Amino acid sequence: MEGVTGKIKWALWLIWMGVFPAGLYYSYQIDPPSFDSLWIPLSLIALAIIFSFLPFTVDSTTIFIIHWINLAAFLTYGLFFELILMQIVLIPLLLRSGMTWNTSYRYALNSAMMLMISIIAGLTYYFYDFSVTEDSLWRITAGAGLYILIHIVFNHFYLYFFSLIVKNGFPFFSRDTLFDYLATLLSMPYGLAFYFLLNEVGLAAVFYLGLPFLAVATVLRLYNNSEQVNEDLGKAGKIGHQLAAQLEVNEVLDLFVKKLTELMPVDYAYILDVEEKEQKLKLLRRYENEKIEFNNLAPVLKGEGISGNVWVSEESVLYNKKIEWNEVVEGYMPQDTESILSVPIKRNNKTVAVLLVASKRKNAYRPHLVPIVDLLCSYFAVAIQNARNHQKTITRSERCALTGLYNYRYFDERLGLEFSQMENGSLEELSLLLVDIDHFKKINDTYGHQSGNELLRALASTLYTLVGDKGVVARYGGEEFVVLLCDVSKEEALIIAENIRKTVEETVFQTFHELSDNRETIDVKMTVSIGVSTAPEDTDDAQNLMRNADRALYIGAKRAGRNRVAAGA
Ligand code: GH3
Ligand code: MG
Ligand code: MG
Repeated sequence: MEGVTGKIKWALWLIWMGVFPAGLYYSYQIDPPSFDSLWIPLSLIALAIIFSFLPFTVDSTTIFIIHWINLAAFLTYGLFFELILMQIVLIPLLLRSGMTWNTSYRYALNSAMMLMISIIAGLTYYFYDFSVTEDSLWRITAGAGLYILIHIVFNHFYLYFFSLIVKNGFPFFSRDTLFDYLATLLSMPYGLAFYFLLNEVGLAAVFYLGLPFLAVATVLRLYNNSEQVNEDLGKAGKIGHQLAAQLEVNEVLDLFVKKLTELMPVDYAYILDVEEKEQKLKLLRRYENEKIEFNNLAPVLKGEGISGNVWVSEESVLYNKKIEWNEVVEGYMPQDTESILSVPIKRNNKTVAVLLVASKRKNAYRPHLVPIVDLLCSYFAVAIQNARNHQKTITRSERCALTGLYNYRYFDERLGLEFSQMENGSLEELSLLLVDIDHFKKINDTYGHQSGNELLRALASTLYTLVGDKGVVARYGGEEFVVLLCDVSKEEALIIAENIRKTVEETVFQTFHELSDNRETIDVKMTVSIGVSTAPEDTDDAQNLMRNADRALYIGAKRAGRNRVAAGA
């Protein structure tokens, strides 16, 4: 109900202040109730309140069976009493469904709507005067049926139109609503029987009919809970399979959060990665109000706050409302959070991350969810490890181990790819630089192979920084590097190449003298020769582009004296 602004809330309360007293006054005028004893009406109210605490859930819709008490109350005492009864029961009903001070306008809205629906249903009943002939059982039955039907239909349209306004995605018709209305309809004969019995035996009817119904509702609820556990377990299994199929770390994270929100009410979710060395929890994913947010929250220290404690204790925690966790939280937590569930994510019995999900509603997470979320977290831990391994393998296969640059294999593939881009027109031109260190053999011979390696690494880093996002740098092999520049003309490529040549010439590289006794640090100067070739200006074939650059390098630059840039023709 994010769409309800402060102004609308006030308007709802204003409407309620008009509708509520007027409705009560009007219903009292048309049918003032008469009570022989207050015990029966009070018992009806008590019974309705008890039933409002015994909801059961079908899929994710909560169903309360109280219409039969409602009906008996209406038939026995008339519209006014029924209104009072429903208004009282509405409070525990809304509290159970998560109403807080901030959302108390829901009372105003529901109260006014229910008042109007009750009046419409009551007036219809009075209008046809179903109860005139006392011997006519069918007339009362038909009247009660109509009364319940009007309640259902109007309530449904109210819910539907309300959902259109706040856009909560309530479908016009679903399996849930069908269950709800069927349960309400089926309770109608029970309500009638209750009414007749109240007439016959008075207060004892509460005992004869109320108690057994209570017992049945309790059993139904227990059964319903175990059904819910089964259903959620089934969902968890499916989610496990889906997670296992993801190969990207980000995809695993996104899917995990998405599935959690489908399984239970989640307004906030945080996945925190254990950083063993720093003894900190670092944020991996932050989900707030249906969006992935930027991970810019400070890391959580071990033993600090809810997730820091879950890391230490390696046990899940479940809080039902704010006062339960208020003292524990140390860092960030959205202001309107009520329920919190935090679970350690373990792999090989070791906590590797912590999950924290939260809801603005009180009592949002039923205890049976804890082991199920725990199970999901183990699926998640395995899936994320798989994805990380997968990514590592890919990185290894396309990178050079010494310099961290792309390797020849990657470059070759990329070159082919860029050429096909050029063929289909999405790339206009492509320039290639072939960079070779001058007299590198001498450097190796002078300082040793290890020092040579270090210099290669330093040069790789210099090239990487100089090229930046203008192109792709790869180690072609030995002391040769290639730079691929997309949509860069030969002219521009020559400027970039000259800049590289000049920078390398001016840079003082540092390495240690491997061959000397004390391995002292030494300054080394190097120069590079560069061959440049451009497609389609020089050639329209990938192999030829390479050959061209190579020729330019050896003939134009090396033979001409080294430390030079030369272009192919
Ligand atoms: P120029 O290119 O100026 O003609 O002379 P050069 O000495 O650089 O060329 P050459 O191709 O003759 O030798 C390349 C040398 O690079 C041979 C080898 O010792 C060295 N080299 C190749 N790969 C590596 C490597 O991975 N590490 C080290 N340390 N040296 C390498
Ligand atoms: Mg060389
Ligand atoms: Mg060479």
